[in-house]
Amino acid sequence: MSLIDNFYIGIDDTDSTRGMCTTYIGAVLLERLSRYSTVLEARLVRLNPNIEYKTRGNASICIELVPHSTSDIGRIKAAVLDAVREYSVFKDRKTNPGVVFFSGRVPDDFRAFYNRTMHEVIEINDAEKVLKKHHAEFHKFKNGRGIIGALAAIGNGFGDHTYEIIAYREKEMWGKKRLVEKDSVFEMDRRTFPFTFNNVDGDKILITPNSPCPVLFGIRGENPDILNDAYSMIETGENVKATVIYRTNQCTDAHLEKVRKIADIRPYSSVILKGSVSGGPIIIPGGHVIFELTDGEDHIACAAFEPTGDFRWVVNKLVEGDVVTVYGGVKADVRTINLEKIDVVKLKRLVGEKNPLCEMCGRRMESAGRNQKFRCRRCKTYKTKKIKVDIKRDIEERMYQVPPGAMRHLSKPLVRDGRYLFPVPRFSLGS
Ligand SMILES: [Zn+2]
Repeated sequence: MSLIDNFYIGIDDTDSTRGMCTTYIGAVLLERLSRYSTVLEARLVRLNPNIEYKTRGNASICIELVPHSTSDIGRIKAAVLDAVREYSVFKDRKTNPGVVFFSGRVPDDFRAFYNRTMHEVIEINDAEKVLKKHHAEFHKFKNGRGIIGALAAIGNGFGDHTYEIIAYREKEMWGKKRLVEKDSVFEMDRRTFPFTFNNVDGDKILITPNSPCPVLFGIRGENPDILNDAYSMIETGENVKATVIYRTNQCTDAHLEKVRKIADIRPYSSVILKGSVSGGPIIIPGGHVIFELTDGEDHIACAAFEPTGDFRWVVNKLVEGDVVTVYGGVKADVRTINLEKIDVVKLKRLVGEKNPLCEMCGRRMESAGRNQKFRCRRCKTYKTKKIKVDIKRDIEERMYQVPPGAMRHLSKPLVRDGRYLFPVPRFSLGS
């Protein structure tokens, strides 16, 4: 057993929409810190996706390591702060880095704080209170908002998780077109799905980001082994400078919380709520599909926005009275749930009318004169009333989800719900 406590480094909010990526600082540090420590794990932690002050993925990182000696702790801290100063995009108004250091057993307060950051709006002060209570060292750059995510990243660690392998580019390639062979991505997906996921959407590949950041590509999956295999299948036209496998809360639904009533939905939270369709659906300008949901007391709008593609046309087939469970986030006003998934629990039986059938020959009768409404011309039989028939619903009682290209980082792909049906994920490159 080591006599030195585990040491945690939390970092957040170093990047900007125009470049960089906090995970890249992680990659730089993993290399630099190996001189002074044994790294146990690197985590990539996504925070509440409904908060408006961040325009990108709300990603923070935590590195857990064991210093080689207590005298190395000072060197580790210096290396972290140097890297944050070196790589943060300070000129972006919205970039406010924060760093947290912590030695020893992670306090329950940190765990609780992580959970709060998934569902609530947190102020910088809230983070400082928790940090001071536990004598954690923290560093704020500019307004220091990043200490929120830095603390949350250390607090994360329990529950469901996935992994992401991220490949980084040589510096001279940053901002240039990414040279990743599309066919190799489809082949990798074919061979590793469902133990990797969200690699492709239709004919588009999703593993390469769109921003001019240092990331060449990232593959998400159930365990590090499958990611190493998947990584080896990707062909690139440029050098990969480094790779890191992060443990992450991505693809776990960690942001969702069950609520029983609409009145219980908190601003900026993401919820799972059962109710029945009480209005719509309607298609509004921009191609968004909206319906109204009720819990019996209140009503709330549920929206499948245009980028969710065909998911909208599923939602558009709902009718008043259908019972559904919706999954999605709200903004400050708590007026609209932005749908990520929908579980169609009970479809309403829709009844229509048709002309009756002839009892002699079984054919559909035709409309006749006013007195005898329907008749069979062949058998000379008559009936007066239309019959009721079930109208076939072109939607099933099951779970539907937005396509991978429109999925949030935290949303759990449906395929992961079935993962325990498979044997322990195993993969072989052979044959
Ligand atoms: Zn007939």
